[in-house]
Amino acid sequence: MSDCIFCKIVAGEIPCRKVYEDSDLLAFHDINPVAPVHFMIIPKEHIESLQDTHARHEMLLGRMLLLAPYLAKEQGLNDGFRTVINTGRGGGQEVFHLHMHIIGGGGPRPL
Ligand code: 5GP
Ligand code: ZN
Repeated sequence: MSDCIFCKIVAGEIPCRKVYEDSDLLAFHDINPVAPVHFMIIPKEHIESLQDTHARHEMLLGRMLLLAPYLAKEQGLNDGFRTVINTGRGGGQEVFHLHMHIIGGGGPRPL
């Protein structure tokens, strides 16, 4: 997806503050954090949103979830964190490349 900002980050065409990378996943800090710690876990594959996932993505989605507490702890979130996946326009999604926000360090907040 040539016009996708997160694909450009995956390709190294746009810089990011990297948190983690492996062959399938990338994690990087949000450019506009809403809390002291705010990063995103994304698949390297261009998947538009959670609405565009299928059975073949089961392993990938599982790995994204399993990575979240590991990286959250690494970022100092020892007391817990929020995970947010905005899906579709109705879900407030702005960047149409699947991503999971990991947010924490700002104390309790409402949903
Ligand atoms: P969404 O509303 O789609 O769930 O969230 C998109 C997020 O991507 C926003 O929190 C926004 O700050 C972040 N974002 C948008 N463009 C960039 C960018 O170029 N670099 C980084 N690191 N984050 C971005
Ligand atoms: Zn993309």
